[in-house]
Amino acid sequence: MDCIFCKIANGEIPSATLYEDEDFRVMLDIGPASFGHALILPKKHYADIYELPDELASRVMVLAKKVAGALKQALKLEGLNLLQNNGSLAGQTVYHFHLHLIPRYQGDEVGLTWKPGELQDKDREVIIEKVTALL
Ligand code: 5GP
Ligand code: ZN
Repeated sequence: MDCIFCKIANGEIPSATLYEDEDFRVMLDIGPASFGHALILPKKHYADIYELPDELASRVMVLAKKVAGALKQALKLEGLNLLQNNGSLAGQTVYHFHLHLIPRYQGDEVGLTWKPGELQDKDREVIIEKVTALL
């Protein structure tokens, strides 16, 4: 399998690494949305959140918290978004799970907002019925 993030995560291709341990690498995004945009990736290949094992899923959030705190303190950012895309429609372009940490600054042009709709009664019922059955 030819996965660029597998090669980066395992050190075959160099990257601007902020942190590394046995299971994860944290690196700067090569096409940053903002100053300090970082990515957390597991060293093992999982395409997306559906494939990620529970143990790594919980640890990735603990690591995100640690990196978020460091970015906040080091870069004096004014906000921070966590973003994780699954599927091309959602904007995923690299099919190796990764979590974005996107620092936010006054006047930046990062666009992660939407126009809020209104939750319809019929939608609420259908969604609750279908999803709760699987949880
Ligand atoms: P996605 O769109 O899949 O959620 O995010 C992929 C991210 O990976 C993009 O923000 C893109 O800039 C970044 N990216 C793609 N190729 C490379 C690379 O070779 N090195 C680094 N550091 N980031 C990359
Ligand atoms: Zn991979």
